[in-house]
Amino acid sequence: MDLLKTYETNGVSPAVYRFGERILAGLRERFEAIDQMAEFNQGKVIRAMRECRVDAACFAATTGYGYDDVGRARLEEVYAAVFGAEAALVRPQITCGTHALTVALSANLLPGDELLSPVGAPYDTLQEVIGIRPSPCSLAEYGVSYRQVDLLEDGSFDYPAIRAAIGPKTKLITIQRSKGYATRPSFSVAQIGELIAFCKSVKPELLVMVDNCYGEFVEALEPSQLGADMSVGSLIKNPGGGLAPIGGYIVGRKVCVERCAYRLSAPGLGQEVGANLGILPSFYQGLFLAPTVVAGALKGAIFAANCYEQLGFRVIPGGAEERHDIIQAVELGSEAGMRAFCKGIQAAAPVDSYVEPIPWAMPGYDSEVIMAAGAFVQGSSIELSADGPIRPPYAVYFQGGLTWYHAKLGILRSLQELVSGGLIPGEAL
Ligand SMILES: *Cc1c(COP(=O)(O)O)cnc(C)c1O
Repeated sequence: MDLLKTYETNGVSPAVYRFGERILAGLRERFEAIDQMAEFNQGKVIRAMRECRVDAACFAATTGYGYDDVGRARLEEVYAAVFGAEAALVRPQITCGTHALTVALSANLLPGDELLSPVGAPYDTLQEVIGIRPSPCSLAEYGVSYRQVDLLEDGSFDYPAIRAAIGPKTKLITIQRSKGYATRPSFSVAQIGELIAFCKSVKPELLVMVDNCYGEFVEALEPSQLGADMSVGSLIKNPGGGLAPIGGYIVGRKVCVERCAYRLSAPGLGQEVGANLGILPSFYQGLFLAPTVVAGALKGAIFAANCYEQLGFRVIPGGAEERHDIIQAVELGSEAGMRAFCKGIQAAAPVDSYVEPIPWAMPGYDSEVIMAAGAFVQGSSIELSADGPIRPPYAVYFQGGLTWYHAKLGILRSLQELVSGGLIPGEAL
């Protein structure tokens, strides 16, 4: 067996491959810790599936109204158990993460209420949902106001300003776990728990929603175990394990999740409707695989951070830093760098490997975005992908990889493109 050869036939030069091996030699211990986390979370998922008595009847398709859908109800029990929450809404009718977050917010905020983000600006697509950038049907149009407290210079919470921002109208606090398209740190579940406790100490009746995108199964605890009234995410990210072809979830307190169901379907109908159309096996099996898939993605992120950091690029988080999500930002400093990086990721993909990503306007984003994704599920970012808005500091956000080996190849291939394009001097390797 000649590993060098397999990389060479996939467009990675021996010099780039050897550079990668030197980086990897320093990462063995961290990879072991990641494997242990996967083992722990695998146990959590299996236990939930056992305790909820998942069986073949759960995989049956329903159509039409989808009344008495056993598989759908059981899956929601499993999600609630895995996330340590009272209730869950897990549906293919939730079209994406933004949709899930929109449902959670609009179900639990009424006209006159105020939404507060104590962690700076939310993810790009949420800005139109909230109405920070005016948009038809935004929360602002429905009379929900918004306030924001930015993070301190060092990325920590500005507690005095948060206390001052919580007023009589403040109803719901939104906390984004992952950095999204910002170069701030992502938060640990423990940090989020502290922030939740602080906000509730100021005003006990506050509701807290955590945007949990990209954070699931990275740690042993989930935000719903530390006081989040709702945790929300996308099934084409971590918890879908790469197999779910669509969907979103909301887990949390029963009162909140029920309102979400009424908002998603209709008042009076709630969780009782929503045919599964035969999609449930992928949801169950994807959740089952998710802890190991997330582990592979984490290894990829750490490998990328260490390769690029070694070559003098700023990476967030840093190569040696602890992880709270699967996102790795690499500041390439130029549009050309972003293009080369994405070209390499795309070229290593099992699907659409022959296309070259170019920057494009995207709905919900205010600058052009470049995206590399050669995925089995369109736009899936638990599969190996890289994307970023074309604006300073020209950072690409790299994530996913259904297997560690694919992530490794993608990163080596991205390095190769930068070397070939003269953006990294060959002698730097
Ligand atoms: C991906 C993401 C979203 C939105 O999810 P989509 O599925 O792309 O709509 C929201 N917040 C964060 C932090 C994300 O990473």
